Amino acid sequence: MRQMSGRFFGRKRYHASLLILEAVGGALEEDADKAVLGAVDAVERIEKDRWDVRDKILEQLTDEQKSAADEVIEKLGPTRKLLDVGLRWRTEKRYPEARRVLNDLSFAEKKELRDAAQEARKELDAAWVADVPPEDRALVDGVIENAAWGRTSSVTMQEFILIGPRGLIESIPAGSRRRFDVAYVFLTDLFGRRPNPAGDRVTVYFKELWEFGGGTGGGKQINIGRAAPEKRGTRLDTGLLYHELTHCIDDTRPVLGGWHEGLANVGAAYAFEVLGQRADLAHSFAANLRDFRNDYVARDLAYWRIPNYGPSAGFFLYFVDTYARTSSPRSRTRPFTATSSRAACWPRQSAGTTARRGASPATSSASCTTGGSSAHSRKRARTRARACSRRRSRSTSRRSTRARATSVAGAR
Ligand SMILES: [Zn+2]
Repeated sequence: MRQMSGRFFGRKRYHASLLILEAVGGALEEDADKAVLGAVDAVERIEKDRWDVRDKILEQLTDEQKSAADEVIEKLGPTRKLLDVGLRWRTEKRYPEARRVLNDLSFAEKKELRDAAQEARKELDAAWVADVPPEDRALVDGVIENAAWGRTSSVTMQEFILIGPRGLIESIPAGSRRRFDVAYVFLTDLFGRRPNPAGDRVTVYFKELWEFGGGTGGGKQINIGRAAPEKRGTRLDTGLLYHELTHCIDDTRPVLGGWHEGLANVGAAYAFEVLGQRADLAHSFAANLRDFRNDYVARDLAYWRIPNYGPSAGFFLYFVDTYARTSSPRSRTRPFTATSSRAACWPRQSAGTTARRGASPATSSASCTTGGSSAHSRKRARTRARACSRRRSRSTSRRSTRARATSVAGAR
């Protein structure tokens, strides 16, 4: 809605812009279409509140209107007659000319005239703002009565609420939803922080009316643009979603700005690794490393010029790759997974909580299907069971760590 308000503002349909802002509150987003892929917190947009928009309505004045008003002001001077002309024009809805005349008179030497003009101008402003042109009214109706609102629905997961066109969000494969919930556990463990400690959920909003071919993440919101209502089988276990989720979780303030996007890419690459998924091109461990080598090291850039996304992510992954590499390629994330393996018990531990919260059976399942052969899955399940039993046998000195794992697990 705010984006539409911004568009109407850009087209000088100030009344339409203001009506929408009054309906939804907040400020309009100028240049909203130029949103960048990235963290909401880092995006700087020009915002105008409704007082700015109201001023724009009252500042409208064409050259013809200006010379018509100036002609009368010149001819009559600061007199009662000029005030009468201003009042007549106001009644005739010639707001721009009337306002210019009353504005001039509000600086008149005679107090009586000055006060009358100021009072009349105040009434004019209110009348002008309230007098919405039919074309603007139609524009606003088109936005408010858009069919998109009728088909907007929601689906609740363990840690997320999906919002968007009903067909799209209800056809998201259950496996990909579950994997996204599990990715939440790994990523919150990796960064040691949950974006929703109070027990509310992170929203993932597939926006039909947002013409932006990417996503943003920050706070407790992930927004994805250009959601097509007829689309089926959209997945959540993708690099884009993992990347935006990491933005919600990561509250660090890295010394180099590019590292923000780098860390989000690290989160995505890490989620792909620990869940045993094939990564998309931009978010794989190897692709980030390659970008680091090709677009940073090989270019011999000053250190603070490290590009964001791949090269920045590669910077962090380089150390993992160089100093923690083992014979198994899947062990590259071992320094991370040493802590995150605790989270592997998460679905089972949280089953009771899940049932209380009324989540669907799909999201409270104890197993995490990550693809691959069944033998491979069984082996992984055995490894996980071992990790869990080892942890259970640990001494009480580890109790605080376990308490934290349980907290990560969703007990609220
Ligand atoms: Zn980003």
